[in-house]
Amino acid sequence: MSAYHTEQKKMLEDFLYRNRDKGFTIDEITEGIACESPCGAIPARSTVYRLVARLVEEGKVRKFVKPESRKASYQLVACEHCDAHLHLKCVGCGRLFHMDESVSDELLDRIRSCSNFSVDEEETVLYGKCAGCNRK
Ligand SMILES: [Zn+2]
Ligand SMILES: [Zn+2]
Repeated sequence: MSAYHTEQKKMLEDFLYRNRDKGFTIDEITEGIACESPCGAIPARSTVYRLVARLVEEGKVRKFVKPESRKASYQLVACEHCDAHLHLKCVGCGRLFHMDESVSDELLDRIRSCSNFSVDEEETVLYGKCAGCNRK
């Protein structure tokens, strides 16, 4: 990877890290980085797309598809054990919640024993509204 790309990858990771409780589309990430860039160097959308795809492959970023728009959004995986529990995604504010591991296991065990179906934890996200958004 060239130095130029290393620099852009760092900007991208920083941006996602600072906004790790939210998900962004490629366009939003591109704009977000452009606003924060000190030198005004704006990465091309295609560059951002490639860098994000690489982070997804590395397991650092998760891809979500909003059920209503089918648009993909991306969010940094801020916890190390994300393959061991389910995730809850709020459609109101876009925040991602890591389900308690024991609750997640219990739920999946129940589904397995009742329906003889093994849920893919890594692929499964439950959509709904968080406590904050429910209050509104
Ligand atoms: Zn997690
Ligand atoms: Zn919410």
